[in-house]
Amino acid sequence: MEFLMKNILVINCGSSSLKYQLINMENEEPLAKGLFERIAIPGSKLTHEPIGKDKYVVEKDVKDHTEAIALVFEALTDKDHGVIKDASEIAAVGHRVVQGGVKYPDSVVIDDEVKAEIKKYCDLAPLHNPANLMGIEAVEKAMPGITNVAAFDTSFGMGMPEKAYKYAIPSEYYDKYHIRRYGFHGTSHMYVSQEAIKFAGLDKDTARVIVCHLGNGASISASIGGKCIDSSMGLTPLEGLIMGTRSGDIDPAIVQYICDKENRSVDEVLNILNKKSGVLGMSGGISSDFRDIENAAADGNKLAEVALEAFRYRIIKYVGAYIAAMGGVDAICFTAGVGENDKETRRIVGNAFGYLGAKIDDNANNVRGKRTMISTPDSKVKLILMPTNEELAIARDAYRLAKK
Ligand code: AMP
Repeated sequence: MEFLMKNILVINCGSSSLKYQLINMENEEPLAKGLFERIAIPGSKLTHEPIGKDKYVVEKDVKDHTEAIALVFEALTDKDHGVIKDASEIAAVGHRVVQGGVKYPDSVVIDDEVKAEIKKYCDLAPLHNPANLMGIEAVEKAMPGITNVAAFDTSFGMGMPEKAYKYAIPSEYYDKYHIRRYGFHGTSHMYVSQEAIKFAGLDKDTARVIVCHLGNGASISASIGGKCIDSSMGLTPLEGLIMGTRSGDIDPAIVQYICDKENRSVDEVLNILNKKSGVLGMSGGISSDFRDIENAAADGNKLAEVALEAFRYRIIKYVGAYIAAMGGVDAICFTAGVGENDKETRRIVGNAFGYLGAKIDDNANNVRGKRTMISTPDSKVKLILMPTNEELAIARDAYRLAKK
C-alpha cells in the first residue's frame, strides 16, 4: 500500500517550553513552526508561525504539557491559522530525546519499554529526559494511536569504538553504570556530516568528516563513512570544547580543590562548571554570548580576548587530534550559531590546517547561515559551512520508521 501521509510533527520539549515544526516530507519544507513558553507557569504563551501566513499568538494558561500539545494541535488545524485539516494528515511525531543510554544506536518507535529506558537515564540528563518524556506522554494523550518516534542526541555517538568511548577508570563502573563517552548533539552531527558528504561529492563509504557544532553548547565529532568514530562530549555535555557557560575539559581534581578552598559542595561546583564557566566565566562574567565576547575583545578587554583565543585554540586541538585519529581528513564542517555566523572563527580554524593543504576562500567565507564551500577549489581539505537542521533530521527518522 502506498504511504499517503506525508507530514511529520517534530517536538522538542523542555521542562516549561515546547518547540515544534510540522514538516512536509515530500519537499522536506516546514509547513508551520512554533514555540510554547511558560507551560504550567502563569502567563503561558503559544507563538504559532504557519509558513506564508501571519503569526498567531495564543495567550492562555495551561497546567501541563498535555494541555499545551492540545493547543498546538488546535493551532495546526485552525481554519484561519492552521496548515492541515486534521490528525490524519500527520504520519508520526518525532521527539528529541537527549539521553538514550547504550541501547539505541538509532531512532526508535516509542513503546513502554523505550519510555522505561528514557526514564532510567533521567539521572544522567535531569534537565532534559524528564521533559522529553512529558512531551511523549502528552502526545500519547492528545493524539491517541499516532506513531511516536524518539530521536536520541546520543545515537550518533553509539558508533564510537570502545577505545574512544571508554574512560580510563575501573571497568566495573562501565559494567555497573555505563559510564562512557556518549557524544551529544548527535542529530546535528549526523545531519551535517551526511549533508556535507552529498554537498562536497565525497565517497559516502570512506569520507573522513569533522563537524564543529559551535553554538552556546559546542562539540566536535569525527566520522568515517557517516559512522562516528569520536566525539568531544562525554558522559554529560560538560566535556570537550570551551562553551558559552560550560568549562569543557578540565582536570577533575579542580572540583575537589574548589570545594575545599571555597567551602562548596560538589553539586555547587558542578553547577559553576556548567553554568558560570566557559567564555562567560573566563571573561570575568561579561557574557555567554559570543557576539558580546567578540565586541568586548575588539574594545580591548584582555579577559574577553583570551577567552576567545582559548575557545578557538581548543577547537583547533580537537580537530587536529581527530585528523590524526582518522589518518587524514576530507572535510571540516562548521555549524550552529557561531559556526554559521562567525567568519573569523572559521577562518582561524581553517587556516590552522594550512600545513595539510587546507585553504580558506576569504570571499566565499564572507557568508552567514547558508550552505557554502568556504575553501578554495585547490584546497586539499574541503571547508564547509553547513547549517544544521536537527528538526529535519528527526523528521527523516520518524518518517522512515513510520513507513515500516
Ligand atoms: P546556538 O546555540 O546554535 O543557537 O548558538 C548561539 C550562539 O551563536 C550565541 O553565543 C551567539 O552569540 C552566537 N552567534 C550568533 N551570531 C554570531 C556572530 N555573528 N558572531 C559570533 N557569534 C554569533
